[in-house]
Amino acid sequence: MKKGSYTKIVATIGPSSSDYKTIKALFKAGVDVFRLNFSHGTHEDHAERHAIIRQIEEEEGRPIGILADMQGPKLRVGTFANGKEELKRGQKIELHLEKFVGDITKVTLPHPEIFAAIKAGEDLLINDGRLRLRVESNNGKVIVAKAMNAGVISDRKGVNVPGTILPINILTKKDRLDLEYALSLGVEWIALSFVQKPDDIHKARSLIKGRARVLAKLEKPSAIENLNGIIGLSDAIMVARGDLGVEMPAEVVPQIQKRIIAACRKEGKPVIVATQMLESMISEPVSTRAEASDVATAVYAGADAVMLSGETAAGKYPIEAVRTMERIIAATESDPDFDSVLNAIALPIEADDSDSIASAACDVARTRGCAAISTFTKTGSTVRRVSRLRTLVPILGLTPDITVARQLCLAWGCHSVLTRDDVEGFADMVGKSTRIARREKLAKNGDRVVITAGVPFGTAGTTNILRVAIVGEHEAASPQDASLKG
Ligand code: PEP
Repeated sequence: MKKGSYTKIVATIGPSSSDYKTIKALFKAGVDVFRLNFSHGTHEDHAERHAIIRQIEEEEGRPIGILADMQGPKLRVGTFANGKEELKRGQKIELHLEKFVGDITKVTLPHPEIFAAIKAGEDLLINDGRLRLRVESNNGKVIVAKAMNAGVISDRKGVNVPGTILPINILTKKDRLDLEYALSLGVEWIALSFVQKPDDIHKARSLIKGRARVLAKLEKPSAIENLNGIIGLSDAIMVARGDLGVEMPAEVVPQIQKRIIAACRKEGKPVIVATQMLESMISEPVSTRAEASDVATAVYAGADAVMLSGETAAGKYPIEAVRTMERIIAATESDPDFDSVLNAIALPIEADDSDSIASAACDVARTRGCAAISTFTKTGSTVRRVSRLRTLVPILGLTPDITVARQLCLAWGCHSVLTRDDVEGFADMVGKSTRIARREKLAKNGDRVVITAGVPFGTAGTTNILRVAIVGEHEAASPQDASLKG
């Protein structure tokens, strides 16, 4: 494997990390998926970064996932004549739909969706929750609100509306342009910000039209209320703790994180834990003990991936941040108690061929001490079923589809490899598995590999066989596999 860890690393690319040398070093330090954050940067910036990642992928001969993160409906107040105003606790301020330059008594809030939905008694949070305004009245054009604490409100500060479902499109006009651009580059994942309800995923899918997989960022209380519905419709989930910790009290974020990870594992949907994981490394070369503990908590809970945002995008120590994260993951996964903590709760196995074979492969791998679970996959589904069971045996995800190989970079424990073509028969299946397992340094001659595939070979949704093979013994003389040609 590129690295010996099961938990994946997602790193955000930004001004601190957009050159070839840094992106290459980030990859070598352990990044599995790069995140292009469309809240910042121009299309040209993202195109350049995308091209560099693809160049590195080609050079390294390893699939690399790319996630394009859409900004989503970002809400902001207007501007002030003085740039900012300081409100006392209990002081009232009017928020107007109409546009003007504000003062201590009134400011523009240019979002009709808020005026259409918010009611007296609900809250508006300004500047990442530093100022809480409680709505006293809303006539559709003017909201009168009272400051619940003393705080500053300044030009274009962000607004969160935690207790209200806004009648807002999940993809704004900017997002739709960004989406088309990201899809034209050829990213595998689209992340949706501020998902509120399951229908948001349907709406996004109708625009994405199967061109990428859909990841829902959970950062709203309404998304947590609709958790199972959203997970069911999404291809992956992000615990977006930045906004989640603004919209909900910080002290409930840990239990929500735990709940989301458990629900995603049950469904076999990859889940990323994001934001402030190694925050102090934006300016310091070492992490705090609390940050190490935070990363380890996500790893013990069985998150598929942990994510770096500002640390790699805008920090002073992007490469050190990835190395630190990788060290924490490796140390946690080598805890002798890791398996028992990770698998404390047994997952139900669905009564179908694919799930029961995935489960049997994990049992065989564990009982026979196999070096790898080799899985032939057309869509990635069987790999995800195996990955979901969190067996401490590397999963070799073999696919002739480069997009699937890249998508699987996010799946826990999966080492995906692009094969030149589909499997042609049993001998080819065994030969490919054992040769590639050895070449990728997952196994050596004499090691056992457990293999799952679907017969007839090359047909999606047919996983129905399980075979144990010994590396070096059952190898058919078929052409060498694996190149990284899309
Ligand atoms: C978050 O809020 O935690 C998050 C990942 O989203 P963004 O960085 O886009 O604000």
